[in-house]
Amino acid sequence: MKNLDITKLTAREMREKLLSKEISSREIVSQHLDLIEKKEKDINAFISINKEEALIEGDKIDKKIKNGEKIGPLAGIPIGIKDNIITKNIKTTCGSKMLENFIPPYDATVIEKIKAADGIIIGKNNMDEFAMGSTTENSFFGPTRNPIDLERVPGGSSGGSAAGVGAYEMALALGSDTGGSIRQPASFCGLVGIRPTYGLVSRYGLVALANSLDQIGVIARNVEDATLLLETIIGHDKKDSTSIYMKNKDLLEKLNDNIKGIKIAIPKEFSNVEMDNGIEDIIKNSIKIFEKLGANIEEVSMPHFKYSLATYNILSNAEASSSLSRFDGIRYGYRTKEHSTLDELYMNTRGEAFGKEVKRRILEGTYYLNRNNREKYYNRALKLRTLIIEDFEKVYGKYDIILSPVSPVLPFKMGEDKNYLTNIFTVPVSLAGLPALSIPAGYVEGLPVGIQLIGDKFEELKLLNVALAFERDLALGGEADEI
Ligand code: GLN
Repeated sequence: MKNLDITKLTAREMREKLLSKEISSREIVSQHLDLIEKKEKDINAFISINKEEALIEGDKIDKKIKNGEKIGPLAGIPIGIKDNIITKNIKTTCGSKMLENFIPPYDATVIEKIKAADGIIIGKNNMDEFAMGSTTENSFFGPTRNPIDLERVPGGSSGGSAAGVGAYEMALALGSDTGGSIRQPASFCGLVGIRPTYGLVSRYGLVALANSLDQIGVIARNVEDATLLLETIIGHDKKDSTSIYMKNKDLLEKLNDNIKGIKIAIPKEFSNVEMDNGIEDIIKNSIKIFEKLGANIEEVSMPHFKYSLATYNILSNAEASSSLSRFDGIRYGYRTKEHSTLDELYMNTRGEAFGKEVKRRILEGTYYLNRNNREKYYNRALKLRTLIIEDFEKVYGKYDIILSPVSPVLPFKMGEDKNYLTNIFTVPVSLAGLPALSIPAGYVEGLPVGIQLIGDKFEELKLLNVALAFERDLALGGEADEI
């Protein structure tokens, strides 16, 4: 179809138009590739673009349609993949010099699932090195910029995935979320970002930052698109020992926006956090919307919330220091040229190829796990984690959803060091392994602000229904009104 800007369609519209033969899969792919070529010098959402392969896959789908064969639910839809998710024959760098030239020989389980659903891997997205950060400035491949304001960060660490979807370079993306890395960039770029229940999506082929916290999830421009990708990647996987069975994974079909009588809790401790001007108004406005939609909203208490950040920092850095020990110059990636002993080989490889933030966290994590400190830090953090989980369990005994801000700060300018401020509302959810999402709720001075909805374990459908009702009421269609 001439003159139609396919990139502006939702993923589901692309699928409908493909099925009705209004557009071809090749047109979908090539329009996105053209836009990527135009925008990348400004945005830098990609580390690798999978150009030739994406066009070939697009043609294959057109052929299938021509031959009357069945096509998968993601047919022809361009999907960006965070560069810490392993892709066969496509460079997977984790945003690091350590893996600058690493080409994996296999696909992560989520990639196998996307391919089986006929989705198109359009490229690999930029990220903070080894997913450590909240801005996508800590990448060996240069920073990503926020498409809404190029002087500002897109959030992180899945900043390339969010900026790319926000800039219409692709319709959907996979990110990973250890302490907020899907929800926070989704909020900063005005998108929907979902972190599913821990274990619901296989982590096989996700390069680990902190195993007990890491989770793959999705970023999209609206709830239905996000649900489409999410339900494709859910599923038990023998190759991931923490992966879980879920009986009802047909989320899209069951999605509905009737949330009358739903019980929403707001922890009173959240209001002790200092926030940028305008964010509180967005929360108040969101509460009004939920009340109008028939939800009951009450204040609750989560007394251990205040320990979440410290607990997260200790556990995630301790685990990171262990996960990243595999990068030793022997097995994968970079190897120093300067070495005469084995110790020198290890030290120089890691010294030369890891960035500053990665080294800082490895040092910190090693400190917490040191024989003399283990009891004082690591073991106490584990106990606090249990108390935080119990806080959540108590709330979910009575309520369906918890509502909070995503970030206490607005999308900030590049170079402003506000990394650690952004984590406060997202890390408790990660510690408890709960599903949560970020959904656009309005703008402050032209900058998007998301709210966070948190569900109980395996209550993805309820969470998505609440998000859908909210999205429809705000009539955002991915673009919120100024409040
Ligand atoms: N911003 C958090 C951090 O830097 C979260 C990172 C993540 O989820 N990967 O630790």
